[in-house]
Amino acid sequence: MVEARKYRVFTLRNFAKVPQVQQYLTPEQLHDIEVVGNVLPFKVNNYVIDELIDWTNIPHDPIFQLTFPQREMLSAAHYREMEKALSQDLSKAELKLVANKIRYELNPHPDGQQHNVPMLDDTKLTGIQHKYRETVLFFPSNSQTCHAYCTFCFRWPQFVGIDELKFAMKETDLLVEYLRRHPEVTDVLFTGGDPMVMSAKKMRAYIEPLLEADLPNLRTIRIGTKSLAYWPYKFLTDKDADEMIALFEEITERGYHLAFMAHFNNPVELKTEAVRQAIKRIIATGAQIRTQSPVMKHINDRPADWKEMWLEQVKLGCIPYYMFVARDTGAQDYFAVELERIWDIYHKAYQQVSGIARTVRGPSMSTNPGKVQILGINEINNKKVFTLRFIQGRQPSWVNKPFFAKFDPDAIWLDDLEPAFAPEFFYEQSSALKNISLN
Ligand SMILES: *Cc1c(COP(=O)(O)O)cnc(C)c1O
Ligand code: SF4
Repeated sequence: MVEARKYRVFTLRNFAKVPQVQQYLTPEQLHDIEVVGNVLPFKVNNYVIDELIDWTNIPHDPIFQLTFPQREMLSAAHYREMEKALSQDLSKAELKLVANKIRYELNPHPDGQQHNVPMLDDTKLTGIQHKYRETVLFFPSNSQTCHAYCTFCFRWPQFVGIDELKFAMKETDLLVEYLRRHPEVTDVLFTGGDPMVMSAKKMRAYIEPLLEADLPNLRTIRIGTKSLAYWPYKFLTDKDADEMIALFEEITERGYHLAFMAHFNNPVELKTEAVRQAIKRIIATGAQIRTQSPVMKHINDRPADWKEMWLEQVKLGCIPYYMFVARDTGAQDYFAVELERIWDIYHKAYQQVSGIARTVRGPSMSTNPGKVQILGINEINNKKVFTLRFIQGRQPSWVNKPFFAKFDPDAIWLDDLEPAFAPEFFYEQSSALKNISLN
């Protein structure tokens, strides 16, 4: 049995009181956290601190890197700018101006993030994104936070308040109506932040109307969440844990596929008794847990990390699903791994697991035209190339066709790549673009 744990959250305001912080961090490290944490979001909880971080391995510990701001996450110039502002006894509003100026220089809106807001008659559905034909993303207004914040998070502008997401009233009614009018949609993906910060009661208020609408096209309800890694007690001992589990059972009993899209970034997150029990409990409802993570320097950039994650996940009954390339936003320079090396990590890890764990797809870049997978590095006509393909595309017809980019050892994102044998990538040709519907 896992003992209940009371959720305690730490931010810039109170983190210096954490015993481990006092014992293991130097005054310089505290200062760095203060400076960087005034620009990028910072939030951590007692489970992460007590069970996941190995405090004898600071600063290299992957979960410390995942949750605590590090000096090098800002450029030297940005760091000095914020540091200077903090030393000047400025008002809160003045500090925020400095922070926001820096934030806007960190590419807060990498491609594709601001598009895809669909319409229902004259209403803009700001809580919905519909980029790929079968799947609609739904951002419940009550899930715009997380149990802790990842230092690499691409949703960081929401958490620091420079993207005020505006939500529609009666958002669930609008979602149901949208699904009714879009019979091509089979999957709804609840995302955020983290929908699993919501109470069971709030979650039920979203799910029930969906179930009651009895939409013939709806097959899969997905929940994108980091809660298993950051707060497994959500499904074990929190006061509404049983209610949440009962809600999952209701979804599967009604004949829907409930897919838990769980974010795990490092094998450590799979090792506590709490996470193992939580996984068991969720799977027992008939749900399936699929896993995903980006490849990040300092967190999981060795083949052994991935091999171990996939093996552990399979052993615990989860299905490895996606390996992503880090997006070009926020502290990307700190975390970015060259595409060549990411391919190598994937390739080496994939070789070492049995077919059961080879359900994982990657390495994949979520770009404006679609999810682009690196299939390999090849030589064609004496030319070294990246072989790529879409695993998801704005145009369904783009999916699965291999295409080629010039090899570039420094490339970290699709933008850095050039077509190998043509003036443009096939999806950039005007005939391809002409047909794009942005909804
Ligand atoms: C990845 C993704 C999906 C889901 O794609 P699947 O391949 O079906 O998992 C849906 N919408 C967006 C915007 C995505 O990035
Ligand atoms: S859990 Fe997901 S949304 Fe939340 S901070 Fe981490 S990456 Fe961002």
